[in-house]
Amino acid sequence: MNSISIIGAGIGGLTLGNVLKQHHLDFTIYESAPAIKPVGAGIMMAVNAMQIFDQLGLKEKIEKAGNIIHGISITDEKLKPITKTNISELERKYNSCNVAIHRAELQKILAENIGSEHIKLDHSLQQIEKKEHYFLHFENGQKIESNIVFGADGIHSNIRNQIFETGTIRNAKQKCWRGLTDFELPEKYHHQAFEIWGNGKRFGFVKLSEKKVYWYALINEKKFNNNLNLLDYFSDFNPLVLHILESTLQEDIILNDIIDLSPIPKWYSENLCLIGDAAHATTPNMGQGACQAIEDSYIIGKLLEKHKDFNFIFEQFQKIRRKKVDYIVNTSWKIGQISQWEQGNSLRNFFMRLIPETTNQKLVEKVIQLEL
Ligand SMILES: Cc1cc2nc3c(=O)[nH]c(=O)nc-3n(C[C@H](O)[C@H](O)[C@H](O)COP(=O)(O)OP(=O)(O)OC[C@H]3O[C@@H](n4cnc5c(N)ncnc54)[C@H](O)[C@@H]3O)c2cc1C
Repeated sequence: MNSISIIGAGIGGLTLGNVLKQHHLDFTIYESAPAIKPVGAGIMMAVNAMQIFDQLGLKEKIEKAGNIIHGISITDEKLKPITKTNISELERKYNSCNVAIHRAELQKILAENIGSEHIKLDHSLQQIEKKEHYFLHFENGQKIESNIVFGADGIHSNIRNQIFETGTIRNAKQKCWRGLTDFELPEKYHHQAFEIWGNGKRFGFVKLSEKKVYWYALINEKKFNNNLNLLDYFSDFNPLVLHILESTLQEDIILNDIIDLSPIPKWYSENLCLIGDAAHATTPNMGQGACQAIEDSYIIGKLLEKHKDFNFIFEQFQKIRRKKVDYIVNTSWKIGQISQWEQGNSLRNFFMRLIPETTNQKLVEKVIQLEL
């Protein structure tokens, strides 16, 4: 019998694996995919996540594999600044930086540090049964008994659906393309992330490594037209946007709907706990979904320093995490709506330009501060 099983080897499950390993606990991660091969896209690891990776001894590796980003600029279509948040002071205070990195690189570092003996690929959980212990039935015919189970199986979590029988997926009615391209960005863009706000559409880009640039593009769903080319939607944006799009191979672009999980009342049941997107998936507007999955793992680790009873730990875990997670899910949803306005954008931009940088920095600090 397994003492601890984690379902899902995404960023949440892999970070939890690293935390449990640090505590010398016996665990196995089960992943449905035949290889740890996340979507070909970039991701931003904010200072909250990087502080945790520091404690896991992984900060330098992740910084080296990615690109340090000192701030985020929101601009209008012509790249004229609306707001700019420089976090150099916060970086010094928390001794960590934001890092933009290829998802595959990040998951490789997390998985390698755990060791392949702890990760079972090609194990798609089909059914979970609660008897005295949990019985995990996998599509490949394997049946495993486990004392403790973590559901780190993402927004469409099977564990959540079967054990909690709850979870409404909300659709923000925005289409999102993500792409990776070999592109030489001018130097002034090397250590800042940019998000350009237009009418009912947005375009973001950030440098990931020597030549790789990660970008994302969003439009309101009602403007989506299968006959249009991505370039057509953004033809009124600064030419840099069009050059980035033109340089991207079709096979390096993915398209998704923007969704999140309507908050669920409870993340744990007897000897079982959900973490990451399975518990509290958010829209990506604050770049915090994975960072919050990493924080979940960190808090479980902090609680394990003082307690042995997992049921007590799960209860405390939700008490500690709930407020911040709800704030992020709700704020991110609102940012997604404001950033995609179709009318009154000059007024929106005018008022946003009046917000002092210190206010933005305070908001950032609220997010990057760890709870324990
Ligand atoms: C456009 C976009 C941009 C984003 N940008 C950022 C960003 O910059 N920064 C940030 O922090 N977050 C970002 N996010 C959010 C982030 O991607 C997610 O929050 C994060 O991946 C959640 O991690 P997770 O491990 O909880 O779930 P997932 O990444 O969904 O991982 C779940 C894992 O479980 C596996 N699995 C699922 N079902 C089963 C099963 N039945 N059996 C076995 N295995 C199973 C899956 O294959 C997967 O590997 C973004 C999201 C989007 C959509």
